[in-house]
Amino acid sequence: VIVGAGPAGLALAWCLRRRGIDPLVVDRAAVVASSWRTRHDHLHLNTHRTLSYQPGKRMPRSLGAYPARDDYVRYLESYSAGMRLRLGTDVLRVERAGGGSQLETPDGQLRTQYLVMATGMQRVPASPEWPGQETFTGVVMHSAEFRNVADVAGKAVLIVGPGNSGVDLLNHLVRSDVGALWLSARSGMNISPLRIAGIPTHHLSVSGRYLPISWQDRNARLTQRLCFGDLTRYGYPRSELGLFTRIHRDVVTGALDNGFVKALKAGRVVMKPGLDRFDGAQVHFADGSTVEPDVVVLATGYRPGLETTVGHLVDLDRTGRPAAIGARTLAAHPGLWFFGFDTQSVYGAMYIARQQARQLARVIADTPSNSGGETSAFPLS
Ligand SMILES: Cc1cc2nc3c(=O)[nH]c(=O)nc-3n(C[C@H](O)[C@H](O)[C@H](O)COP(=O)(O)OP(=O)(O)OC[C@H]3O[C@@H](n4cnc5c(N)ncnc54)[C@H](O)[C@@H]3O)c2cc1C
Repeated sequence: VIVGAGPAGLALAWCLRRRGIDPLVVDRAAVVASSWRTRHDHLHLNTHRTLSYQPGKRMPRSLGAYPARDDYVRYLESYSAGMRLRLGTDVLRVERAGGGSQLETPDGQLRTQYLVMATGMQRVPASPEWPGQETFTGVVMHSAEFRNVADVAGKAVLIVGPGNSGVDLLNHLVRSDVGALWLSARSGMNISPLRIAGIPTHHLSVSGRYLPISWQDRNARLTQRLCFGDLTRYGYPRSELGLFTRIHRDVVTGALDNGFVKALKAGRVVMKPGLDRFDGAQVHFADGSTVEPDVVVLATGYRPGLETTVGHLVDLDRTGRPAAIGARTLAAHPGLWFFGFDTQSVYGAMYIARQQARQLARVIADTPSNSGGETSAFPLS
């Protein structure tokens, strides 16, 4: 059983099917690719099409360098055709039973010898809270709830968080008829151009992959400096850690610019330091300054949210992940894998999932069954 019909779960299902194993893919949503369907209307992949495709099926050239959300959803839909799907089934908790796993769902139990949790790194929006937030007269939402720039037309918007999600939203907002725009940054962030002179840069950023990390960091800093100049002059703080060190250490990718920096330099977006507190209509920052936004968007990241399903079985680290992910399994839990949680690469999480899906499918196929030599992952009931 694979829990999660997102890009990672479907990639693994495809690779298992190639090996003659037909897994049951369970998802709480009524459709596949649900996390992509619920992301905002303007979203495009920020990794190149030719690096982000699923095993066995390239994305058509017509989708462009960075495919649009709806095109990507249709691509995943057609990719899942013929797979054994059990949709609308929320896995509430996993127990270990009889050398396998037992899944608790609202409709009853599901037992399987081999279980792969592919529930995603972004399952739960991380929404910090600040003093006085309950008094705020405007709207506070997480970036996961943001739908369309038209919803904030004419409104003053504060984005909290200068990373990938925050800058992605600003790339779209600066082209809209939104009112005042502020960006609050508690600490620095690396930022790279999505395109240079119209040419997509993703392949360029992966070209130095065999260099030591410190060299890759230096290349990224140089690119940032050459493309944007000194952004600290405009209040966008410099990240203490280099792009690649940060990806490896904190599982945090840099921001990608597609219009934000130009707007920042033109004064269309005003930088603010870390948020300190809310007070009625006002938001106060660490430097004592205040603004009065209509909408505050928390671009403050996500968590895998594995606590509720497997937190009682496995230890989770500060990033919310178990010690063994991908094709590796925990010695205490043979037959249980966590897939799609290894996103530490400039190639992008989709690229990593494609690579590791092949490895994990091989490991599963080679793992001897404790129920009569059966190598398929069958739901028992
Ligand atoms: C805004 C945004 C943009 C991104 N853009 C890119 C990009 O361009 N390129 C890239 O490489 N990566 C990108 N990523 C990172 C990552 O590749 C995607 O998030 C991708 O969707 C992850 O795939 P996944 O299958 O691991 O998780 P998800 O797509 O989140 O799929 C997990 C599935 O598990 C299901 N599920 C969760 N819990 C349960 C449960 N308890 N029971 C049953 N089902 C459950 C969910 O319904 C969901 O369908 C982006 C992430 C975000 C947040």
